[in-house]
Amino acid sequence: MAKKKVTKKKAAVHVEPDFLESVSRNFDKAAALTKYPRGLLAQIKACNSVYQMRFPVKIGNEYHVIEAYRAQHSQHRNPTKGGIRFSQKVNQDEVVALATLMTYKCAIVDVPFGGAKGGVKISPRAYNPEQLERITRRYTMELIRKNFIGPGIDVPAPDYGTGGREMAWILDTYSTIKGGLNAAGCVTGKPVSQHGIRGRTEATGRGVYYGIREFCSNADDMKKLGLTPGMAGKTMAIQGLGNVGSHTGLISQNEGDVKIVCVAEYEGAIYKEDGIDMAKLLKYRKQRGTILKYPGSTTLKSRKDVLTVKCDILVPAALENQINMSNAHKVKAKIVAEAANGPVTSAAEDVLLKKGIVVIPDMYINAGGVTVSYFEWLKNLSHMRFGRMEKRFDQNTYHNIVNMVEKVTGKSITKKEKGMIVRGADEVDLVRSGLEETMVTSFNQIREIHKRRKSVKDLRSAAFISALDKISSDYLALGIFP
Ligand code: GLU
Repeated sequence: MAKKKVTKKKAAVHVEPDFLESVSRNFDKAAALTKYPRGLLAQIKACNSVYQMRFPVKIGNEYHVIEAYRAQHSQHRNPTKGGIRFSQKVNQDEVVALATLMTYKCAIVDVPFGGAKGGVKISPRAYNPEQLERITRRYTMELIRKNFIGPGIDVPAPDYGTGGREMAWILDTYSTIKGGLNAAGCVTGKPVSQHGIRGRTEATGRGVYYGIREFCSNADDMKKLGLTPGMAGKTMAIQGLGNVGSHTGLISQNEGDVKIVCVAEYEGAIYKEDGIDMAKLLKYRKQRGTILKYPGSTTLKSRKDVLTVKCDILVPAALENQINMSNAHKVKAKIVAEAANGPVTSAAEDVLLKKGIVVIPDMYINAGGVTVSYFEWLKNLSHMRFGRMEKRFDQNTYHNIVNMVEKVTGKSITKKEKGMIVRGADEVDLVRSGLEETMVTSFNQIREIHKRRKSVKDLRSAAFISALDKISSDYLALGIFP
């Protein structure tokens, strides 16, 4: 892609790196801090395969030639895994950058997959559901034809512009053509009624919340930012009310007592100092098709102003390259949590770091989606809902314990209290527990690298090193590299 020259007032002319270049620079920066052989690092960095396709789909009375991709960045673990994006901005470099991030993301959260990503260059708004179904099914046929999909080969999932509906079409197409005992594991993010798992839709947003909460729990880190530990009362600005942004906002507000002061969507940005009720805002937007004029809010001049408002936590949850050399110097947040993939360019990150702003990197903070995709895939391969075996057993055991304690002490608890204790875990409880455990453990691995190694100055480099340690040991175990 062409490089964009951006002129900053009173400063030199900066060359803005594009998305793939940013990912590459970030990799090189972290790799330079490790002692792994150059050949091994080059193999880890390289994107293994890209399938570019063009196919015709009949729309009304004419045929549209659709351009699409699937990139498999690394097969050091199989299957490869990553979402499918429907966007007019899709191009090969973007898909490769996104597939690359998936490899590191999976390694960071110990999900045993290689990285992949798909993209279909369409604006979903320009097509009706019937046309979108035709495009999705035809794209799936192309993947099947080239052996680019399957429960043990490559497993797509939702991404920007896609959701459960598209995943159900993919599953149906794959099952019809290929079938097989494990066909349901050919794609994740499916509706629960179509072999999906409870808790997948909210998973990325919930993971973003757990990750920020973990970062904010450390008193030393918070002190450096002039903040107190904990989430309660912190202010948050969110760019994008898609699946990730909306759930991050809802969960941060409901479970973390965070105050959402600013929200931006396609139509503009709104600000409300005493906090926006996320559930009410989402309902408002559903009814009126806009967030603008939400009661008590003021409208900002431009939707991009969400990135530069005063707040503690900024959550860019839309697309890549949003914080760049044109606005990085204006960011006022203390923490930037990259809920989207690649929202901060590598040049912009240098500016943020110099200003003392902490960037919690995408490949860790938005890994909740692929983590729960992993649980869904395991459910599909095991052909059983999580919790089915132990729920009643646990319930009976807790019941017996409570009865015993009541008998021994001669005291009894209320029915409501009993209900809270005497309860076996449902699928959604186990999914949330597994996700929380994953986000907490992975963050502490990254924090440990950041703290222990003096040369590692930022969380992104620490996250990269965490991924490189794990991926390298996979390659070294194969005995390919000395
Ligand atoms: N598209 C999501 C991501 O960027 C989810 C990928 C998946 O579940 O495979 O992480």
